[in-house]
Amino acid sequence: MISTHTTEQITPNMDGQTIRIAGRVYSKRVLGKLIFLKIRDPQGKAQVTIKKNREPEEAFETAENLTQESIVSIKGKVRKTDQTKQGYEVTPTEISVINEAGTPLPLELEKGIESELDTRLNQRSIDLRKPEKAAIFKVRNTMLKGIRKTMEKRGFTEIHTPKVVKEGAEGGATLFPVKYFKEEAYLAQSPQLFKQMMMATEFNRVYEVGEYFRAEKMNTSRHTSEFTGWDLEMAYINNQEEVMDVLEETIIEALHYTQKNSREDLEKLGVTLKKPKTPFKRITYEKAREIISEEGKKIPKGMDLGTEGEKVLGETMQREGHDLYFIKEYPSKEKPFYIMRNEEEPQYSYSFDLDYRGIEIASGGQREHRPKEVKKNMKQQGLNPSDFEYYLNSFEYGMPPHGGMGAGFDRIIQQLLELPNIREAILFPRDLKRLKP
Ligand code: ATP
Repeated sequence: MISTHTTEQITPNMDGQTIRIAGRVYSKRVLGKLIFLKIRDPQGKAQVTIKKNREPEEAFETAENLTQESIVSIKGKVRKTDQTKQGYEVTPTEISVINEAGTPLPLELEKGIESELDTRLNQRSIDLRKPEKAAIFKVRNTMLKGIRKTMEKRGFTEIHTPKVVKEGAEGGATLFPVKYFKEEAYLAQSPQLFKQMMMATEFNRVYEVGEYFRAEKMNTSRHTSEFTGWDLEMAYINNQEEVMDVLEETIIEALHYTQKNSREDLEKLGVTLKKPKTPFKRITYEKAREIISEEGKKIPKGMDLGTEGEKVLGETMQREGHDLYFIKEYPSKEKPFYIMRNEEEPQYSYSFDLDYRGIEIASGGQREHRPKEVKKNMKQQGLNPSDFEYYLNSFEYGMPPHGGMGAGFDRIIQQLLELPNIREAILFPRDLKRLKP
C-alpha cells in the first residue's frame, strides 16, 4: 500500500515515481481516446491524464464515468511535463471511486458564475468548495488569531461565560426564551454582566470570543440572530479613552497580522488591506449630529444616529481618509444601565461606538462601578434591581473602576472584506427565516 500524497507534495522531480493521490474530481474533459481529469485536494490540483490502450482499460472506463465532485483515490506514475501549471501530470494504473457525487450539482461551481446568496447558504457545504468563498473564513481565522495574540500580549485572559442566562443586559425586546428545566431562561445577548463580575475578582483584564443571540425582528445586511462577539473588560481605568486606546491598538495590530498572514486569500477576494489612518478620529455624539445635519439629515436631539445617519457620517469620514472612527459621549438615555453617566452633564454618558465605514462594529465605555448608581440607572430604565441581585452583589464588596467593549466579529469581517451582507462572513447564519442548515 502506498501512502497518499497531497498534490503539494508532488513535484516534477518525482518523474517516474509511483504515487497515490486522493481528492475530488474538479473537472473532466473527454477527447476521444484521451481523458483529462483535474483532481483537487485541500492543497491544490493535479492533472491526471488517461490514454486509451496506454493505461489499463478499467482505469479508462472508470474515468469516463466519473461525475464532477466525486471523491477518488488514484494510484499512478508522476510524469514531468510542461503542459500543466504544476509541471507534472499523473498517469494512472488504478482509479478507485471512494464516493460518487450525484448529478446535477445543486450549485454551480464554475468560476465567475454567482448564485443567489440564499441558494448558496442552502448549499453551504458545496458553496465553501469555491476558493474565493473559503477564503473569507481563512481570513476570518487569521484576524481572530491576530486579535487573540494582541489581547494576550496586553495581559488579557480569555474567559468563557454562560450562554444560558436568567437576565439579559441589552434590553428585553431581543431576548430568546428557552425552557430551562422548570424555569424560563434566555440565550445570552452578550457576556456583559459576567465579564463585569470578573472585574471584582483576581482577573482585571479579560476577553471573550463567543456566540450571542438576539431575536432581531428585522431583515438587514448587518444583523443576524446569532453572532460572534469579541468582548473585553479591564479594571482600574481612569476614563473610557483608555478602553478606546486598547481597542484601537488591537484592531491595528490584528489588521497588520491579517495583511501579513493572509496575503493569498486576500488576493483571491480582491481586497487590499491598507493600514487605517491613525489615530482613529474621536468625535462626540453632538459633533456627529452636527456633521450629519450639515449633510442634510437631521437627527433629533438625544436620539440614536440611526442606520442612515451612521452611513452619512461614514461617507464624510471616508472623504477625510478615516475608515475607522469613534463616536463618544452618547445620550445616557440611549445607553444601558451599566454605562457610567457624566457627573457634570448626566444627560451624556461615558460611552463610545467604533464605526467602520459607516457601520457600527463595537460599542463600549466606562462602566458604573458604584452599586448605588447602578441601581439608580436600573430603576430609571424600568428594571428591577432585585432581578440582578447576583450581579449587584459583586459590586458591594469592592469593585474597582472599569470599562470595556463588545464588538461584532462577523461585522468586522464584513467591513474588512467589503462584503455586501454579514451572512457572507458566517458559516451557517441564523436569521428571521433561517434555522437550517
Ligand atoms: P445595532 O445598533 O447595530 O443593532 P447594538 O447597539 O444593538 O447594534 P451592541 O448591543 O452595542 O449592538 O452590541 C455590540 C456589537 O455587537 C455591535 O457593535 C455589533 O457589532 C454587534 N452586534 C449586535 N447585534 C448584532 C446582530 N444582531 N448581528 C450581528 N452583530 C451584532
